[in-house]
Amino acid sequence: MAVKIPFRRDLEFAYGQVAEIAPGVRRVIAENPSPFTLYGTGTYILGTGKVAVIDPGPADSVHIAALIDGLQGETISHILVTHTHMDHSPGCRLLQEHTDAKTHAYGPHGAGKLEQGVPVEEGGDMDFQPDVLVRHGDVIENASWSVECVYTPGHTSNHTCFRLSEGKALFTGDHVMGWSTSIISPPDGDMGAYLDSLQLLLERDDAVYWPTHGPCIDNPKPFVEAFIEHRRERERQILECIREQVYRIRDMVPRMYTELPEFMYPAAARSVLAAIEYLVAQGTLAVEGELQLDSDYRLA
Ligand SMILES: [Zn+2]
Repeated sequence: MAVKIPFRRDLEFAYGQVAEIAPGVRRVIAENPSPFTLYGTGTYILGTGKVAVIDPGPADSVHIAALIDGLQGETISHILVTHTHMDHSPGCRLLQEHTDAKTHAYGPHGAGKLEQGVPVEEGGDMDFQPDVLVRHGDVIENASWSVECVYTPGHTSNHTCFRLSEGKALFTGDHVMGWSTSIISPPDGDMGAYLDSLQLLLERDDAVYWPTHGPCIDNPKPFVEAFIEHRRERERQILECIREQVYRIRDMVPRMYTELPEFMYPAAARSVLAAIEYLVAQGTLAVEGELQLDSDYRLA
C-alpha cells in the first residue's frame, strides 16, 4: 500500500511582485518554473526596515530587480542561503551589486561532504562562497527579526533551514516541500543524512514551514512522517526488485516509479542510487565494485 503524502500545490501569486504572506514575512517568486521548482524560486524577505533575504534564487536580473523594487526605502542587512543549487544561490552575486549585505550559509557547494573527505563534483553553484559561515544553532538577528540556523544536510551536504522566532516559522529550502519529495542525488546528496534531518524536524516545535518552492505547510509533522515512510517504502521496493532478480537501477526505476513521466527517470535513478548507498552503508545490500548507477546490487 503506497504511502499517501498530503501534497499541496495551490499558490496565489504574481511573478515579480513582493507580497506579504505572514506577519513580518514577504515573498517574491522568480519566473523559473520547472518540474523541480514548481512555479519557481520563492525568495523570502524577513522583517521590515532592515531585512533579511533568504535564497536570492537563480542569476535572474529581472527577479533581482523586482526584489530591489519591492524594498525601496528599506535596507537588506543579511542574505541567507539554504543551499547551493542553481535555483537558490547564484542570485546572490547580482543582489550584492545593490547591497553591502553579506551572504550567510553553511559553506560552499559540497561543504558537508568535503568535511568528511568525500570529493564532490556534482552540479550545483560552484562559484558561491559564503561571506559568513553558519553552524547549527547559530542565531542571526536584527532589530525586526531573529533567525536560528538549523543544519539539515541530505538534499545537499550544506543544506540549512532558518527558523524565524516570530510565528515559529521554519524556512525549509528544498529539505521539506509541500508539493514534492526532495531529490537526493549522490555524491553530495545523502539519504542517511536526509533521514536524520527529517527526524530532527520531528523533534522540533516549528509551527509552519515555508519551502523555497510552492505553498507553506501549516501542519508540518504529518508531512515529515509521510516523507520518512515514503523513503522506507522505496527501500522495500528496492529489496523486492532484487529478490525478483532486478539488480540494476535502470531496471528498477520503471518498476518503482510507475506514475513518473519517462523524462524524469534520470532524477529518479539518482534517488534510487541514494537509497541503495544508504542500504549498503546499513549492511543490507552489497555491491561488487563501485557504488554507481550501472552496478549490480545484491542482498548482503
Ligand atoms: Zn535544491
